[in-house]
Amino acid sequence: MSKTACFTDERTFWHTGGTHALFFPVGGWVQPPSASGYAESPESKRRLLALVQTSGLAASLDLRSAPAATEEDLLRIHPRDYLARFKALSDENGGDLGDLAPFGKGSYEIAALSAGLALGAVDTVLSGQAANAFSLSRPPGHHCLRDKPMGFCLFANIPVAIEAARAKHRVGRVAVIDWDVHHGNGTQSIYYDDPNTLTISLHQENCFPPGYSGADERGAGRGEGANVNIPLLPGGGHDAYLYAFERIVLPALERFRPELIVVASGLDASAVDPLARMLLHSESYRAMTQLVRDAAERHCKGRLAIVHEGGYSEAYVPFCGHAIIETLADVRTKVADPMLDLAIAQQPSARFAAFQRQLIDEMAAAAGY
Ligand SMILES: [Zn+2]
Repeated sequence: MSKTACFTDERTFWHTGGTHALFFPVGGWVQPPSASGYAESPESKRRLLALVQTSGLAASLDLRSAPAATEEDLLRIHPRDYLARFKALSDENGGDLGDLAPFGKGSYEIAALSAGLALGAVDTVLSGQAANAFSLSRPPGHHCLRDKPMGFCLFANIPVAIEAARAKHRVGRVAVIDWDVHHGNGTQSIYYDDPNTLTISLHQENCFPPGYSGADERGAGRGEGANVNIPLLPGGGHDAYLYAFERIVLPALERFRPELIVVASGLDASAVDPLARMLLHSESYRAMTQLVRDAAERHCKGRLAIVHEGGYSEAYVPFCGHAIIETLADVRTKVADPMLDLAIAQQPSARFAAFQRQLIDEMAAAAGY
């Protein structure tokens, strides 16, 4: 039985957002940040990897790096002009070419490596070299548009990986499930008229992009129906996500019958994330991972790659990510989530949950599920 492959590379932790505190540009009343004051810091990722190693989970994984995405890989998604502008500014001293996507010197190469790790995860699954795969890297990708970076995302890692897989493995229908707390607007925009790529985003309503909900955006042209947005109320927790899976995500996969499932796995819907207001905990991520694993078994011979996206609580991201990787690898270590009891006690009331379920039912009906 082949193992779960876990792709990671210390070099991707060396990407810097430059002089930002949380995501505020330094200057005026904004004091320069402490060492890890920039929200999209390497520490949450590095600490997840450290937990995987100290818990013994690493022994059950095939831990490896991958080559950076090539220019050919990147050009399948991004225009040459964007690559040139990004490379030139990265070679100088960094800057920001988009909307909240600052980068420092050398981030072009690091972003290409981050995309390469996602590409490696998808490729190894399709080649049958691993039971499934996880990619732990940064910068993330799901906000990046074809020609503009956005929200800490510099290349569209998952689309780059999917299109490389299509070029090499002739895979057809791919489903992307995005449980990052922010809307997967980049992936949506890249595949909006593509009937062969189902994009599903569960996100906190009106969070990022600011004021965005998206429930009515279902794709265009031949891609009509292949884009599904599930905006959830701030304060929603375990029940909201699991009910959305039951009523919308799983039926959408059933109808679409994917040949590969890729998850954009942000861990910023956790109960203590500084950039959002949702209430998930490690058992929520464990449960969602089990559901996508089962769906992958059912539809596509288990072909599943999970790609890390956001997640800004340095202390808590590792426990949520560890639960995901344990579930992929079918291993349960002795790691206990120190936040679990508190997070369970803080779940919203039954009345809130019932109202959120009603809204999910309405979304399901509107989308025909
Ligand atoms: Zn996010």
